[in-house]
Amino acid sequence: MSPLNPYNTGPHHTAPAAFQWTHGVSNGKELHEATGACPECGCVMTKRYTTGQYTQPKGGFLGRRKGPGPQPFSTLCQCTSLHTDRPEGVQVGCGARITIASWLDGASQ
Ligand SMILES: [Zn+2]
Ligand SMILES: [Zn+2]
Repeated sequence: MSPLNPYNTGPHHTAPAAFQWTHGVSNGKELHEATGACPECGCVMTKRYTTGQYTQPKGGFLGRRKGPGPQPFSTLCQCTSLHTDRPEGVQVGCGARITIASWLDGASQ
């Protein structure tokens, strides 16, 4: 896979990828950041969650989460590399929907 892959919304990686989680506090809110390589395009990306904001970013089928749990997180790729054919208005990602293992599953502490 190359960072120059064209944007493609087809791939959906359901096998949870082990990302590196960092935890902190931002503006009084608990902040969780997952950093790792997108399994589709291979670019390193960071996905950021704050407490109370566990919604899926549009089109998600899991709906709102009550909070962090052992369930993996589903997200669209957030890489900042340039992928050709990226639709207008879309700033990041290769189009793939990927799954990130939760920091609570013991595999990505
Ligand atoms: Zn990607
Ligand atoms: Zn990428």
